[in-house]
Amino acid sequence: MSTAPQHGAAPDADNVEGRSTTRIHQTNDEKHYQITAADRLPVLFDLHDRGAFLHELRRTGPDGTCHCPKGRNCTGPGKHPRATAWQHGPGLSREEIIDLEAEDAMFGVRTGDLRDRDGALFVVDVDGPQGEASWAQLLEQHGALPETYAVATPSGGRHLYFLAPAGTKIANSTSKIAPNVDVRGHGGQVVAPGTVIRNYKGTGNAGVYTCTSAAPFAEGDL
Ligand SMILES: [Zn+2]
Repeated sequence: MSTAPQHGAAPDADNVEGRSTTRIHQTNDEKHYQITAADRLPVLFDLHDRGAFLHELRRTGPDGTCHCPKGRNCTGPGKHPRATAWQHGPGLSREEIIDLEAEDAMFGVRTGDLRDRDGALFVVDVDGPQGEASWAQLLEQHGALPETYAVATPSGGRHLYFLAPAGTKIANSTSKIAPNVDVRGHGGQVVAPGTVIRNYKGTGNAGVYTCTSAAPFAEGDL
């Protein structure tokens, strides 16, 4: 049995060798966490290669204050796109992702149409215990779904990624399909896995979005 440390087996790991591994400023008030370029870039590239359009989110300061014009009054610090035209255009290239990651940028995933791929990406946001209960009830009524790409969110929820049939328009909704189950479709976006939101909701802890299943996007419809 080899005892050599296992390095990330992702194909892009070579691109990030030699770079600083801990990029996120850590204060005594924040829960211990580490996220590295070697953790984050393969996850972002994977989504990019699946045809998802990525964009940059508005950055926040060390205390979590949003850099948008609303500043401390922003209700979604670290969660909204930086560019006004984020819904259009080609999204970030791999090179742009590398450069932005090195600056500790935060990333979003545009839902809806995909690059060079039929079908539309939509994300079901199952938020907390109430959301899980609602979701379980929906699955009971409509049947189980195959495993799909999933991201754990800092609120204790899950983002489940699905592929809708070509030509389908998926509307954004909040608690419409079930309580605490939101949908992000055309015109929407979600925070990408690997993103860390400082001082999440004023808790003093970092809010981390973590990919928990890299399964293919399961086909689904609403
Ligand atoms: Zn803001």
